[in-house]
Amino acid sequence: MLSKFISYYKKHSKLFIIDIICAFFIAAFDLVFPIMSREVVDNVIPSGKIRTLYIFIVVLVILYILRAIFNYVVDYWGHVMGTRMEYDMRRDLFTHLQTLDVHYFDNTKTGYIMSRIVNDLRDISELAHHGPEDIFLSSIMLVGSFLILIRIEWRLTLVIFAFVPIIIWFAIKKNRKMHKAFRSVRKKIAKVNAQVENSISGIRVAKSFTNEIYERQKFDEGNREFKNAREFAFKSMAEFFTGVHFLLNILNVVVLGLGGYFVYKNVIKVGELLAYILYVNFFMQPIRRLTFFAQQYQAGMTGFERFCEIMSIKPRIVDKKDAVDLKDVKGRIEFKNVSFSYKDDKNTVLSNINLTVEEGKTLALVGPSGAGKTTLCHLLPRFYEVDEGEITIDDINIKDITIKSLRKNVGLVQQDVFLFTGTVKENILYGNPNATDEEIIEAAKNADIHDFIMSLPNGYDTYIGEKGIKLSGGQKQRISIARVFLKNPPILILDEATSALDNETEIKIQKALERLSKGRTTIVIAHRLSTVKNADEIVVLSNKGIIERGNHEKLIEEDGLYAKLYKAQFKGYIPDEID
Ligand code: ADP
Ligand code: MG
Repeated sequence: MLSKFISYYKKHSKLFIIDIICAFFIAAFDLVFPIMSREVVDNVIPSGKIRTLYIFIVVLVILYILRAIFNYVVDYWGHVMGTRMEYDMRRDLFTHLQTLDVHYFDNTKTGYIMSRIVNDLRDISELAHHGPEDIFLSSIMLVGSFLILIRIEWRLTLVIFAFVPIIIWFAIKKNRKMHKAFRSVRKKIAKVNAQVENSISGIRVAKSFTNEIYERQKFDEGNREFKNAREFAFKSMAEFFTGVHFLLNILNVVVLGLGGYFVYKNVIKVGELLAYILYVNFFMQPIRRLTFFAQQYQAGMTGFERFCEIMSIKPRIVDKKDAVDLKDVKGRIEFKNVSFSYKDDKNTVLSNINLTVEEGKTLALVGPSGAGKTTLCHLLPRFYEVDEGEITIDDINIKDITIKSLRKNVGLVQQDVFLFTGTVKENILYGNPNATDEEIIEAAKNADIHDFIMSLPNGYDTYIGEKGIKLSGGQKQRISIARVFLKNPPILILDEATSALDNETEIKIQKALERLSKGRTTIVIAHRLSTVKNADEIVVLSNKGIIERGNHEKLIEEDGLYAKLYKAQFKGYIPDEID
């Protein structure tokens, strides 16, 4: 896993090297200052050479200007490197997600994926940037100062460096607690957000049930938990900083006391004591860095682990090696002995289904809810893979066809229309991003939505709100139909396209759908049987499989389930034996 992490540095190796070199110089300059101070106090001032002092000062100023430049590079370009790596990872993750099967999304919460992409990767970027730099800087500073000091007075140095691990241990321990506390704060604020979102989107329900007080109580609970979590987080933050500062101050006192004693005994000089004090005061920086590193490593690596987890999920439905593109499609569809079950529950949804739809003809699927009609249709564009049997288009097994060309040739209109947040035009264009304006208008006219679009304040550029919230169900459906007109696939699936609409809207949309299915092989699912009467073949699917098939007249004559359902719809009641 670490090697995969490191592989993301490759593309940014230049920035990485620059970052490390600059970090090296920063550490080196910081190590120089106490030595120069010692020089000034012990040699330059006693010797009375004021010019040497000036030279020292000039050199120091130059060094600090350089240090500022290096610091800027590390702070800016280091973060740029981290952000770019995060960008690469996020792009890879999103690209990978797009390749995953529908099955994966059936079983994964959207919120889970969101937090993988947004939060986890943020932690990684911080680690990617600060990790190597922090370790490098801190070790140079600690090791460097140790080597310099040990040459001056080894006993005093050992005392100081016996303290350092204790402070680091304390800092990491407290920091872990602080980190945990802040993580819980994040979780709690997510809960508050979710509560607000839920309450506001259900505000009409809350009002109609006059449950405002209950809603407020629910909110109060989350809000209080958030407050408590924050109080705790600040407590651990205070413990951390107070503790570390206190230990460093004690160390200062020890150095002053012991060092002063050594000066008194003439073991070291005053300037050397000064160097000790200065170094100890520098320690705050590496200690802080190492502590943050410990925390970032933990957070970043957990995030990266989850990143790798998703990246390692392989899509099951992929192109075969010698898959062919589907060209000049006539549109003859055949289901041969098809059986299917959703993997997570063993119940067979479809078993031994045999169906043929001839080129340009319409097949209607009717039957009780849960019989597997939608499932059957989803097998055609390979959203799921058949367990047994095969499906062919123009006598080619769909498993031998590239997924891209297969899906390009199958159009789907569903009951739950999904529109993307954006404009009308963007949504229609989704059917074919290369379409011209004329083609878009033509598609809209065919879908009987052009006049409506023109009546909108900005015409085709009107913003339709989040997921098309500003449109009625019928309007949304017509836009989705225009989208399929623009895609212009030879094969069409209409899955209860009008079921959610009122009668009048349905009749209007029905006309657009008839125009759409003209000349295309169509599978239509509908529970209003008046709309499927004219299909070339009607298949009645129940939990037991296909129980009736034939055209309308034949099925009415047979007087089976279809005939019962049909009569019931005309009389206005539904018999019990639907299932
Ligand atoms: P219909 O469209 O005829 O109403 P479906 O094809 O939607 O029926 O569903 C058939 C059966 O498959 C139902 O029992 C349903 O619970 C199950 N099912 C549908 N979709 C999924 C899914 N994504 N994962 C697991 N089971 C599913
Ligand atoms: Mg269905």
